Amino acid sequence: MRFQKPKGTKDILPKDIHKWQFVENIIRNIMELYNFSEIRTPTFENTELFARGVGNETDIVGKEMYTFLDKGGNSITLRPEMTASVMRAYIENGFSNDSAIQKLYYLANMFRHENPQKGRYREHTQFGAEIIGSDSVSTDIEIISLAKEVYNRCGINKFTVNINSIGKKEERNKYIEILKEYLNKYYNDLSSDSQRRLNTNPLRILDSKNENDIKITESAPKILDNLSVESRERFDKVLKGLSDLKIEYYIDFRIVRGLDYYTDTTFEFISKDLGAQDALGGGGRYDGLSEILGGKPTPGVGFASGVERMILVAEKNNFNFTAKKPIKVYFITLNEQSRGISLKLSNELRNHNISCETDLLSRSFKAQMREANKLNAVYSYIIGDEEIKNEKGLLKNMSDGTQKEMPFNEIKNYLLKENAN
Ligand code: AMP
Repeated sequence: MRFQKPKGTKDILPKDIHKWQFVENIIRNIMELYNFSEIRTPTFENTELFARGVGNETDIVGKEMYTFLDKGGNSITLRPEMTASVMRAYIENGFSNDSAIQKLYYLANMFRHENPQKGRYREHTQFGAEIIGSDSVSTDIEIISLAKEVYNRCGINKFTVNINSIGKKEERNKYIEILKEYLNKYYNDLSSDSQRRLNTNPLRILDSKNENDIKITESAPKILDNLSVESRERFDKVLKGLSDLKIEYYIDFRIVRGLDYYTDTTFEFISKDLGAQDALGGGGRYDGLSEILGGKPTPGVGFASGVERMILVAEKNNFNFTAKKPIKVYFITLNEQSRGISLKLSNELRNHNISCETDLLSRSFKAQMREANKLNAVYSYIIGDEEIKNEKGLLKNMSDGTQKEMPFNEIKNYLLKENAN
């Protein structure tokens, strides 16, 4: 029986891995520039963490989680997102005692049982950043600006930052009543999902993808018009900060998180290059999350981006991901004795950070030369009977075909000198 990977998953093959490594390096470099530290948490958590920390009413928790009972009868879930895990780790490890503010980032795989389509997988990779411990407007701006910086350096320049503010809990509760009153007038025309949400979570009706719902909500009262002066001023400061950094934004009343612990800023990065799944990344402020997870009241703001989608957009823009460096020397060996010599020499070269490869299939001279070409080797180094006798191999420059004798005990210094120039 031949096996296939589970639906919605992918193999990242050697021919594509340089793209991933490129993006991962950019992320790590930028995070260092912004003084973020990496955090790694378990791939699975107790289900309750996500039920509370993301919310049962979200699609992620309500419909998409990979949840199972382990052998001890505990309900376990493969993480569908990271903010809840990061906050759990923050509280559990007493981070607030170490420092008033924590700047954390992650690069990790997530699991959601969704219908696969372009840019949507059942296992995907997210990079994200969280600033926990400060409610300063600067932290909202920093999070948005670091995401933009990562995108730009991956050749992603065309996107919009859609932004909104959902204010504080009390203002939001008042607004929800106003919204309900409006939507009740159109109850019969709403989708069945939205009819249900009118009681459970009316805010989420604003981000419904149903065409009729969209028409109805277009003229609904807006949350921005119902914020307190303080919240509105805060939002204006965030917008001004973005303008000062020349980050273009578009105010979008549909970006609501629909959970009690979210506060103030919410945003999404949207790319037209993505098709139906057009969100590159998104995030917001979650000042109430720590308490929900049993911690002290602690403000926080964060962001997560899909790495697969970033690569899709960069590819579409023909971005030139730096390819893997070609191998420096390919050893051409013709018998047992020359293979022994090549193993010794390649060991020495690798100890000096010079990459090399030897033939591991006892192939013919011609086949080995073909392999050296295929690998884009800078040199081949031929060790035949004559060469063994004289202790000198033939070093062939693979791009111009020139070759010269090179004693076994000189090749290392020759290549090191060349590297230095
Ligand atoms: P979310 O927590 O849903 O806002 O997800 C954050 C980001 O992760 C999104 O903006 C997407 O770029 C990416 N993402 C979410 N779900 C998937 C998925 N099923 N497949 C691929 N990328 C995803």
